[in-house]
Amino acid sequence: MKKRYFLILSLVILLFFELSCGKRERIPKNPKIYIIGLDGADWDIINPLIESGKLKFFKKLKEEAAWARLKTFKPTLSAVVWTSIATGDRMIKHGIVDWLYVSKNNIKVPYTNAEKRVPSIWEIFDYYNQPSVVLHWYVTYPPDHIKGVMVSDAFADAMSGIFFRNEKIEEYRDTVFPEFYYRKLYNLLSKELKEKGLGYKGMIKYLEIPDYINMYLNKYHETNVKKVPILSSWRRYILKDYIGEKTFYYFMKRGKYNLFMWYSRMPDVFKHFASVFLDKNYLDKINELIKEGKPISKTVEKEFEKKLAPIVAPILKHKEKILKAVYNKAKEEGAYVFILSDHGFTLSSKGYDHHALPKSVPPPDGILMILGPGVKKGHEIKATVLDITPTALYLSGKPVGKDMDGKVLLNAFIFRRKVRYTIYKKKKKIRRKKNKEINKKIIKDLKTIGYI
Ligand SMILES: [Zn+2]
Repeated sequence: MKKRYFLILSLVILLFFELSCGKRERIPKNPKIYIIGLDGADWDIINPLIESGKLKFFKKLKEEAAWARLKTFKPTLSAVVWTSIATGDRMIKHGIVDWLYVSKNNIKVPYTNAEKRVPSIWEIFDYYNQPSVVLHWYVTYPPDHIKGVMVSDAFADAMSGIFFRNEKIEEYRDTVFPEFYYRKLYNLLSKELKEKGLGYKGMIKYLEIPDYINMYLNKYHETNVKKVPILSSWRRYILKDYIGEKTFYYFMKRGKYNLFMWYSRMPDVFKHFASVFLDKNYLDKINELIKEGKPISKTVEKEFEKKLAPIVAPILKHKEKILKAVYNKAKEEGAYVFILSDHGFTLSSKGYDHHALPKSVPPPDGILMILGPGVKKGHEIKATVLDITPTALYLSGKPVGKDMDGKVLLNAFIFRRKVRYTIYKKKKKIRRKKNKEINKKIIKDLKTIGYI
């Protein structure tokens, strides 16, 4: 009799143990890592759209993620911050401290990948013989010669020169590594653009966004868009965003990688002029406040963001497709996904912006969501842009850089593993390429957005 009780009891305990352990997620030792960058995205625009039911997938992601209002720093320049995200280091250490610097020939040139002083996360994966796919990430021209593929941030601009101004294809072969893929991508895009005759209308249809050029001309009864420089180059930004998405799906499907990084600039570019679509009377009221030069109250800012959110919605809504594709693939693979931005925007006496803010105004928080096995779902954490690379290395089973300024976001996970450290040195120094055409394009772009 006693023996039978004992047997039943141990069976119950075993069953209970199995059920509870079975339920606990298996924490992978060497998972794939996805890092998706949406420049300029912020919760103060996304949250109202989640509440109004417009961004259902962002809602789902936020419920399943450990998320944060991601702390960024000043100067809140994208080139500088995205480099900190990809290195775990402050600008003084990685060396990209501004958009431009004065070269030996005493001319102002853009900082490039060749000026970086510390290894980026994709180089660290390379040290472990693991391939990466890195698409359009800021300051990646000239690309690093790593296992996998790097489509540098100069590629899309190069394509717009080739497709819009008949520039020479050969001129820009070095915007992609290995070059084999440069030709492949050019053929893919020219098939779409030339053979199918996909123009501006076709691309905005694909990107599911309104025709903002016409919307502006109708709203202000204008005959041209000269007053809004970004709209003057809007076709180029649309082409770049389109190329961004096409290369994303191309490599999601074909790429062999342990690390997949994709960057889109569209939310940031659009938010730099989106306020022109606000109600005219309301916009005049805001412009009056800005002209007074006094600090803008939180209430006024909240109301402004609530009114601006529906205008930004189409841009973010369409990007949900990209996020869904990553989410589904990562779920299958038991991989981790980081979805983040480098900064948000804020309304101040300098207008609605993120850089050149008044001293008293802090840099506007970006967004962070981490998804994957053992993540504390729906849990808000504290995090900075410096913590992404250390946390991604930790999750992928690699030691963290001893001298990295960022830290591992341990509080995002239900499990705890020992954080190992090592010293990572930059192994391959890439020679700076004098590509005057690319420099010109970068400088033209910075002027169009109003950064310089
Ligand atoms: Zn930015």
